[in-house]
Amino acid sequence: MSAKVWLVGAGPGDPELLTLKAVRALREAQVVMIDDLVNPAVLEHCPGARVIAVGKRGGCRSTPQAFIQRLMLRHARQGRCVVRLKGGDPCIFGRGGEEALWLQGHGVEVELVNGITAGLAGATQCGIPLTLRGVSRGVTLVTAHTQDDSELNWAGLAQGGTTLVVYMGVARLEDIRQGLLAGGMAEHTPVAMIENASLPSQRECRSQLQWMGRDAAAFGLRSPAVLVIGEVAGRAAAGVLEETLMRVAG
Ligand code: SAH
Repeated sequence: MSAKVWLVGAGPGDPELLTLKAVRALREAQVVMIDDLVNPAVLEHCPGARVIAVGKRGGCRSTPQAFIQRLMLRHARQGRCVVRLKGGDPCIFGRGGEEALWLQGHGVEVELVNGITAGLAGATQCGIPLTLRGVSRGVTLVTAHTQDDSELNWAGLAQGGTTLVVYMGVARLEDIRQGLLAGGMAEHTPVAMIENASLPSQRECRSQLQWMGRDAAAFGLRSPAVLVIGEVAGRAAAGVLEETLMRVAG
């Protein structure tokens, strides 16, 4: 049997947001390695598989990346159908790209299966259209957390004219606020902070760029959460949205 690993996105949490292809991969899986942001409810699709939890949550006890990769390789080489299940999409801040390259470099066939990434799901679940004619002409997905602690190009992000979706930002709200303000983004730019997107425990905190840290603290915002920053994220934008939608429809 040839060695093969499926790198599969489990979506943001709601098991109904799993793709049909992800379900097929899970049904075929003999070994499933899951991250801790994956809702265990999706495991109903692989009742016979051996499930290995390999969470890597920041700051918590985590399984070293090299160990996870070697484990995938070992099971694949033993001819097992391996599914590596990741939260959201495997290639959006999910190391899917590096794992795929490493496995391919070791002669293992890799199949990538998209999942709905948390930023897109969070916005949609809150009724925020990330792009909207006349309001937002694009979306930028960024992580606030970098491996080498280097700073983002805040000015570029502030002036890019797209809606920003920030991952891994809860512990860096003050840096994000300062960086975007210094980069020239307006103080009153609407911000939506969405915790546990698509799960029954989902909560959303609406604010403005200038108040986001204070409001998040009062709200008790906790990880995992995504931030949506831009006109489309605002309560105040509701009127703007209606107006625009009517214009587009009319
Ligand atoms: N591959 C994942 C992202 C992994 S990085 C994806 O595509 O969604 C981990 C970050 O994703 C978290 O810090 C948080 O910013 C975001 N995240 C993941 N699941 C989330 C959820 N259900 N609600 C809100 N944010 C989530």
